[in-house]
Amino acid sequence: MKKKILVTGGAGFLGSHLCEKLLKLGNEVICMDNYFTGQKSNVVHLLDNPFFELIRHDVTMPFFIEVDQIYNLACPASPIHYQYNPIKTIKTSVMGAVNMLGLAKRINARILQASTSEVYGDPEVHPQTESYWGHVNPIGIRACYDEGKRCAEALFVNYHRQNKVKIKIQRIFNTYGPRMHPNDGRVVSNFIVQALKGKDISIYGDGSQTRSFCYVDDLLEGMVRLMNSREDFIGPVNIGNPNEFTIRELAELVIELTGTKSKLIYEPLPADDPMQRQPNIELAKKELGWEPKIQLREGLIHTINYFKSIDLKNI
Ligand code: NAD
Ligand code: UDP
Repeated sequence: MKKKILVTGGAGFLGSHLCEKLLKLGNEVICMDNYFTGQKSNVVHLLDNPFFELIRHDVTMPFFIEVDQIYNLACPASPIHYQYNPIKTIKTSVMGAVNMLGLAKRINARILQASTSEVYGDPEVHPQTESYWGHVNPIGIRACYDEGKRCAEALFVNYHRQNKVKIKIQRIFNTYGPRMHPNDGRVVSNFIVQALKGKDISIYGDGSQTRSFCYVDDLLEGMVRLMNSREDFIGPVNIGNPNEFTIRELAELVIELTGTKSKLIYEPLPADDPMQRQPNIELAKKELGWEPKIQLREGLIHTINYFKSIDLKNI
């Protein structure tokens, strides 16, 4: 049955792919964004679709609409962007969650929070299971993001306990793919852009820190399955690809796949940069029948082809 669905942060990297996927599944989609890190160009190809609506709005301000489901993705996601105005980042996660939960409560909609593996901080448990409480520096430079997202999770579970709001919490691990902003400073886009421009590849620290990279299509399949999973709250669910790589391995793979002559250079590791990260996805397998299908090499080829197709002159 056609549903009316609100996607906050819908003009961003993940949000724009989500809007596309939800429309393909036959739904009506309202995309709300303030264009801080998202861009109209990410969704311009959807504007001809009569079941797609684009609204400029800041999620920290109340918003009223009648929908069946809300995907709450509004929040800058790359360290450079979320540290640009840290107070605003906290407000976006916290006030955004309050506003969207209040709306969900009033209209009896299901609501999914795009949470993050960052709630585990610099993890001392590896791989990370959902039951791990995390190791987060509450006053560090990443706190505006980590703690904002942790507070949003707390708001979600309390709206569920107190007001029976139908909630879903997805803990998203590093995701990459076409439409990542070439300038947003995340490692996959940085390395590809540097490689394509023949510039040095900037490894922060010695490159031995690890991440587990999930391709956007896999991630969104997990997101939609989670939203439509059984009514009762099953707790936060990790969605990510458990194949773990060092940052140096990622750099070497990007060099191989682009055929660039770029060299590796080493720059200081930012404060509080997590040393390791890998999702345990047993819960997603059991509850959603989900696991990722696209591995790093294949996903990087799609992403490199995307970056080749856009103008990188001014980046
Ligand atoms: P993105 O920066 O491309 O998208 C975020 C979108 O939110 C942008 O379109 C931006 O303009 C919008 N936005 C920001 N503040 C807003 C506000 N106050 N009001 C309305 N819109 C606002 O990032 P993304 O990678 O697409 O991430 C989407 C969501 O997924 C975020 O909540 C992020 O925290 C979460 N997430 C992403 C990853 C990842 O690896 N991509 C990992 C963990 C969690
Ligand atoms: N990183 C790097 N070079 C870059 C950008 C990032 O070595 O040009 C490192 C960064 O220090 C971190 C990892 O890559 O250890 C992932 O960084 P990203 O910002 O993509 O995601 P997050 O740290 O939020 O997981």
